Amino acid sequence: MNRIFNFSAGPAVLPVPVLEEAQRNLVELPGVGMSVLEISHRSKTFEDMLARTEADVRTLGKVPANYKVLFLQGGASMQFSMVPLNLLTPGATADYIVTGAWAQKAVKEAQRVGTVNIAATTESDNFSRLPKPEEIELTPGAAYVHLTTNNTLFGTEWPSEPAVGDAPLVADTSSDMFSRPIDVSKYGLLYAGAQKNLGPSGVTLVIIREDLLARSQKSLHTMLNYAVHAENGSMYNTPPCFGIYLMGLVMKWGLAQGGLDAINAVNQRKADKLYAEIDRSGFYRGTADKAGRSRMNITFRLPSEDLEKVFVKESTAAGLDGLKGHRSVGGMRASIYNAFPEAGLDALVAFMQEFEKNNG
Ligand SMILES: *Cc1c(COP(=O)(O)O)cnc(C)c1O
Repeated sequence: MNRIFNFSAGPAVLPVPVLEEAQRNLVELPGVGMSVLEISHRSKTFEDMLARTEADVRTLGKVPANYKVLFLQGGASMQFSMVPLNLLTPGATADYIVTGAWAQKAVKEAQRVGTVNIAATTESDNFSRLPKPEEIELTPGAAYVHLTTNNTLFGTEWPSEPAVGDAPLVADTSSDMFSRPIDVSKYGLLYAGAQKNLGPSGVTLVIIREDLLARSQKSLHTMLNYAVHAENGSMYNTPPCFGIYLMGLVMKWGLAQGGLDAINAVNQRKADKLYAEIDRSGFYRGTADKAGRSRMNITFRLPSEDLEKVFVKESTAAGLDGLKGHRSVGGMRASIYNAFPEAGLDALVAFMQEFEKNNG
């Protein structure tokens, strides 16, 4: 195999055993004689596949029984609209904690629907940190409070949920879902585009507390209505069959790793390795505040933009792909999701030490 180390922010690296199983069974599912790409979504084979994927999501995430698990399309970006369309009841206010560009996009869609309160924002610090508890100004009786658990572009991640009172907490977990144990019962709704930690692009995981489904008005467009998707078990129309199949394989892989505690331990070790190198010398400089550093997207800069260009070029040539940071931060970003191999961190750290020796 000639697989390189893929630091892409998303779509991102998938577990090799998942790719291998999908490849083995792509032309012909065992005992079915057809590809998963060809079978009816109403077939017993696919229904079983969907049920197994949901069951494994529930097991891996310890999802309580009073939550629905939905597999939708339109990416996390569609959830920016669906969340307010379904949950922002007339006359109420939705609170948004803005810690990055994805949260800003979520706000933009919510503002089309109703009243939005920016409960906190760290934009004036270029989103290099999370708000402190005393900076968060919540609306009494808010319809919900929305946050982004991990800020893919800026490299910050909530170590744990902030206190938000009684309002349902709604979270965009696209870039750190199932990277650590998650207490679903603390949330009203969780959503994640699959293409970072859960599978390929094209399927979005939504976990919603059942009582919130009562807020979805019949007047909503059918495909934008959580209650319709829940009543139909994500099968109101043709679901993203291949994405669900692949997410199922990723869930199976996650369970085989030992579940979220085990995945968390590996992720911590991987992130610690890279942060230790970033903090070791003055040559590399982390861009995110240490109290809220991401373990999924690690952002750092070099002494000059010229050196950063050389770093990107030479690291790519060395088989370390996708390290160029987002333009809003500059520098480097190493995205090291669940499936990113630990050996890739060793390779990156060795490259960084060599690069500093040659250029420092
Ligand atoms: C990638 C990402 C998105 C966008 O996801 P799409 O599926 O492309 O719409 C939204 N939020 C976060 C936190 C992301 O990392």
